[in-house]
Amino acid sequence: GREIRLASRPQGRPVPENFRLAEAGVPVLEEGQILVRNEFISVDPYMRGRMNDSKSYSAPFRLDEALDGGAVGEVIASRSDAHKPGDVVVHQRGWREYAVVDAAATTPVPSGLAPHSAFLGALGMTGLTAYAGLLKVAEFKAGDVVFVSGAAGAVGSIVGQIAKAMGAAKVIGSAGTAEKVERLLELGFDAAFNYRDAPVLEQLAAAAGEGGIDVYFDNVGGEHLEAALALMNTGGRVAMCGAIAQYNSTEPPAAPRNLAVAIGKQLTLRGFLVGGQRQHAAEFAGRMAGWLADGTVRYDETIVAGLENAPQAFIDLLDGANTGKMLVRI
Ligand code: NDP
Repeated sequence: GREIRLASRPQGRPVPENFRLAEAGVPVLEEGQILVRNEFISVDPYMRGRMNDSKSYSAPFRLDEALDGGAVGEVIASRSDAHKPGDVVVHQRGWREYAVVDAAATTPVPSGLAPHSAFLGALGMTGLTAYAGLLKVAEFKAGDVVFVSGAAGAVGSIVGQIAKAMGAAKVIGSAGTAEKVERLLELGFDAAFNYRDAPVLEQLAAAAGEGGIDVYFDNVGGEHLEAALALMNTGGRVAMCGAIAQYNSTEPPAAPRNLAVAIGKQLTLRGFLVGGQRQHAAEFAGRMAGWLADGTVRYDETIVAGLENAPQAFIDLLDGANTGKMLVRI
């Protein structure tokens, strides 16, 4: 099968030449391993950090080796008692057509509940990030005013809908196009704005009004974080999920310049990783299945066809080409 390798490390914005499509070796299964034919791979912003030669929160990708990341696919050969051919699993060896995976490092996908792709998105890592980030990290409670940036993306769109479902007083979202703003209103956000139209602070202040903001779910950092801090209420909580505005930058960020307001307003800013929230996975899976089944939460997907187009899908993700979860169908 084929795989995508890192040909060179991006300087700033990634370009197609940073990636190479290559033929992988013939897979050999050891005891306890399974062979999976990947069906969808997850395309994620955090991968940008792993393309640098410095330690982000996960180890750097190695040059001339296949990238990896979340994937879902069908077991086609097994040397594990836990799996038989035909089973569907989520695992971490994406960016290739066929993956040899330790059976212990997989999550089974139940049949009939939702399309397989959902287990990379709303019912998978993306959904758990949204759920745990909002409810456990930001300690959302009914009556809060919530602001979420990157709101039309995979995580952000779920955050806003969970907040609405659980009794938020108001949910405000920001995104990068008029179409995305429209979509947020369809998904039940109370207010939404295009951050490219005017300064974030100006638009956010208009959306929040007198009520201010109690919870900010930050996917973007920079100017968005600065604007949110300026408008947070006393005792407000910020879940620091991502800072995509700076993933491609080669200079330190210029904002937020007003971090010290956190003192007087007694704010809590908490960074988190979904990997540290696994204890909530079972609770999340049950509730999300219910919300999807009754239509409380809806999810969008942007699906690119063909492994060979995965590098461009990643570049486009950072440019905002996706609405909802960015996936490649192998
Ligand atoms: P998204 O589906 O949200 O895709 C990324 C989006 O970011 C793009 O669609 C684009 O939308 C937006 N974007 C790109 N550049 C900028 C910019 N300069 N300013 C504002 N928005 C920008 O990805 P995910 O839902 O997978 O991830 C969202 C965030 O959550 C990321 O920061 C990611 O790193 C983080 N994350 C963190 C996890 C954790 O464990 N802490 C786990 C998973 C994700 P637009 O058109 O609106 O600009």
